[in-house]
Amino acid sequence: MKYDKVEFSSDIAQEVEREIINYSKKYPDTRKQLAGYAKKFSLLPLVNHWTETIGIASDGSIRKFATDETWEWYEGLRFVDSRGEFYSALVEGAREFPFLSVLIPDRPGNAIDCPSCWETKEVLVKRGMICGERGNLHWVEAADNSP
Ligand SMILES: [Zn+2]
Repeated sequence: MKYDKVEFSSDIAQEVEREIINYSKKYPDTRKQLAGYAKKFSLLPLVNHWTETIGIASDGSIRKFATDETWEWYEGLRFVDSRGEFYSALVEGAREFPFLSVLIPDRPGNAIDCPSCWETKEVLVKRGMICGERGNLHWVEAADNSP
């Protein structure tokens, strides 16, 4: 699986574990349901969509789970399906948990602006929207034509 996990230090692993434990204290009301899933799956929620949430485990695994029991429901954790989902988790996650920003890849010198981003990064963020191509990284590798 190509979009499986990220590598990080034991410091970050501990930080992820701490945030998973803190999640229900941090959001006792507004994210009660998510906090339950975070605990159940030992996964720190990073990006929330209509019916799914993508999160990170303390071993660096990026996984998702269903959050709407009436629509597109499934049990347990799934791999993410695309690099858009994978990078969106890192980029959006770092907004809420700045210690994760070290996981966002640096833009290579030969990278080009993402052709799928229909707005500037600032506008996407302001509107709470995420580009499906690379999340809101906003760039793609110059020679990369893979889907
Ligand atoms: Zn894009």
